[in-house]
Amino acid sequence: VAVAAVFVISCADPAKNNSSQNVINTKVDSLLSLMTLEEKIGQLNQYSLGSEFTGPGNKKGQDSIRYQQLISGQVGSVLNLLGAENTRKMQELVVENSRLGIPLLFAYDVIHGYQTMFPVPLAESASWNLDLMQKTAQAAAAEAAASGLHWTFAPMIDVTVDARWGRVMEGAGEDPFLHAEIAKARIRGFQGEDLAHNKTIAATAKHFAGYGYAESGKDYNSVNINQYILHNHILPPFKAATEVNVASFMNSFNDINAVPATANQYLLQDILRKKWNYDGVVVSDWNSIGELVNHGVSPDLKDAAKKAITAGSEIDMEGTAYIQHLAKLVNDGVIQETLIDDAVRNVLELKFKLGLFDDPYKYSDLERENEIVGNKQHHALAEEIAKESIVLLKNDNELLPLVETKNIAVIGPLAKDKDTPLGNWRAQAVENSAISLFEGLENTLPKTTSLRYAEGVKLSIGPNNFFQEQVINEDDRSGFEEAKQLAKNSDLVIMALGETAYMSGEGRSRAAITLPGLQKELLKEIHAINPNIVLVLMNGRPLDLSWEDENIPAIVEAWHLGQRAGTAIAETLTGKNNPSGKLTMSFPRQVGQVPIYYNHKVTGRPSTAPGQVFYAHHTDVDNSPLYPFGYGLSYSTFEYGEIELSKSSLSEDESITVSVNVKNTSNRDGREVVQLYIQDLVADETPMVKSLKAFQKVMINAGESVKVEFSINPQMLSYYKSNGDLSLEKGDFRVFIGGNSSVEEHKEFKLK
Ligand code: BGC
Repeated sequence: VAVAAVFVISCADPAKNNSSQNVINTKVDSLLSLMTLEEKIGQLNQYSLGSEFTGPGNKKGQDSIRYQQLISGQVGSVLNLLGAENTRKMQELVVENSRLGIPLLFAYDVIHGYQTMFPVPLAESASWNLDLMQKTAQAAAAEAAASGLHWTFAPMIDVTVDARWGRVMEGAGEDPFLHAEIAKARIRGFQGEDLAHNKTIAATAKHFAGYGYAESGKDYNSVNINQYILHNHILPPFKAATEVNVASFMNSFNDINAVPATANQYLLQDILRKKWNYDGVVVSDWNSIGELVNHGVSPDLKDAAKKAITAGSEIDMEGTAYIQHLAKLVNDGVIQETLIDDAVRNVLELKFKLGLFDDPYKYSDLERENEIVGNKQHHALAEEIAKESIVLLKNDNELLPLVETKNIAVIGPLAKDKDTPLGNWRAQAVENSAISLFEGLENTLPKTTSLRYAEGVKLSIGPNNFFQEQVINEDDRSGFEEAKQLAKNSDLVIMALGETAYMSGEGRSRAAITLPGLQKELLKEIHAINPNIVLVLMNGRPLDLSWEDENIPAIVEAWHLGQRAGTAIAETLTGKNNPSGKLTMSFPRQVGQVPIYYNHKVTGRPSTAPGQVFYAHHTDVDNSPLYPFGYGLSYSTFEYGEIELSKSSLSEDESITVSVNVKNTSNRDGREVVQLYIQDLVADETPMVKSLKAFQKVMINAGESVKVEFSINPQMLSYYKSNGDLSLEKGDFRVFIGGNSSVEEHKEFKLK
């Protein structure tokens, strides 16, 4: 304790220049010089711990090895401990008992809110509203920080093209550019201007890298991709994360190029440290160091520890490879102590940046926790972004917005569900605290509307046990009759179907991506009685909706929209909110098309000309997705004028201004996401058919036109070659501007 006190005094900086890197470096080096090898390794050890160590009746905790490790500086960070009181107590335990009193870092998966739940990230991404996404991350950070957390394991920025993968709900879909923009917004939101602020937390770019490409969409599966995909699709969001100084990177579980990411020198050294000059912390995923043994690249934990630390994985999350083996590896001369020092430096630096050495308790503040967590402003923000995240998929004959409907039947297992909208990864959310669709409708529709409800069918899976198989009752039709009667006697049926919160997320990949259980059968039977149906979907991934699209007149994609889901959906159905969301993942016509994504490569046989059979396609399904990337309707209608270019060619140090008039031809004000795509017509390596390079979400009043302008610069025309080098090649390009990725209108220009 004495040493710690001396150290802290010597670190105090009267010039208040705490944030300057040099000052921090000096402090880090000074602290490092006081540390034993064991204490250093402790900083690289992270455990998932509960309150049993500090709470009343903590006998069990105190008898454990982990307790002894905590009080002797053998643990550097803790995940999964929540609440100002718990974190304060554990911090006290460590600061007051360990020799150097180095504060712990408290980490947690704050994915889409802490207690106030915002839409799941895939849903939020459909808003294309970077400003709002930054704000929700900021609000989540403020809540988490007030509860004592310093560090979130978010955002997940794994680009993915496979809707079977359960974790698509955690990311921003299939496009690397959009993903990168959203990554930056979320990281800025979490981290703010200054990490030392007690309303911000450190963010994590995860999972580095390739996790979203798990073969056949099975979570944790091997990844088989080529270098072109790696550099052009997977890495751009991670590079963007380094550009906004994300505090940490997390390894992915998978192997890539036959080397598990956790021990992958190419990823962690060649790309992350050398090419991108990244100097933050690298944390393993949950026991991913230990899993090097399961991967079959290490015979034992000791070898796993050696491989992981050598590659650059710095913190061992909930494994024991480092704490058990690193000291011996150093003492036997197998690895250099400088390797440990470098890793510890990064951890200590983060602790300094968070201000933990000035006040280890500044985040754990009961009063602020009460004031900030789940406050009204955050709920209002949740409603605002939920409204922008809704995607109107179909609206035949302007069935929506609803006008003076007298008798409405609300049918389906998710109609009154107050839990599903909270989504998976819900941190401190209060169970059943969402506004249900039914409640939203009750609050929104005029009292003259008769609103009646039938569940129709049950949609339940077992309790939230991580790896529990989904148990869906496939036989229970006992609710069908009541629902059908109700539909028969109603003018309109609103059906709320989809996936419960835990049907997507980690470990929840699905091979079939249709509506689970008996929902589709119920829908068909109701449709046979009353086809006047508005289908409201709540789900965490793209679904195969071919039958629904063919038969149901109005379809609203409402994802898992968070706290105020019901209000957001109801106000959309009634027209108070004009939908403006656009899909960030293609919806397939059927699962056999997966992986399906708009920015695929040009093939040697791309033709769709009449009579042409030798081109890449399936013989039993149309080649297009059901709903393409970027697609979403509005109650307004937009007409795009001709694309205009300021010139028809540019050289490497020039840019071209491109513009288009977008007219709102309806009598409703509405927002449109105007998307700009570029195609490189000839390149050294086979190009993609088109790639998103810019977008603007613009408000266009009824009957008015807006001129939307973009600037095309050479950087937007370059791509990564398979060797990882950025390449800018002269030649012809096409620019497309439109309301979704299937846009065909384009102009050509030349890079000289
Ligand atoms: C997940 C990570 C998460 C970690 C800690 C792992 O299973 O893959 O994304 O951050 O657990 O909860």
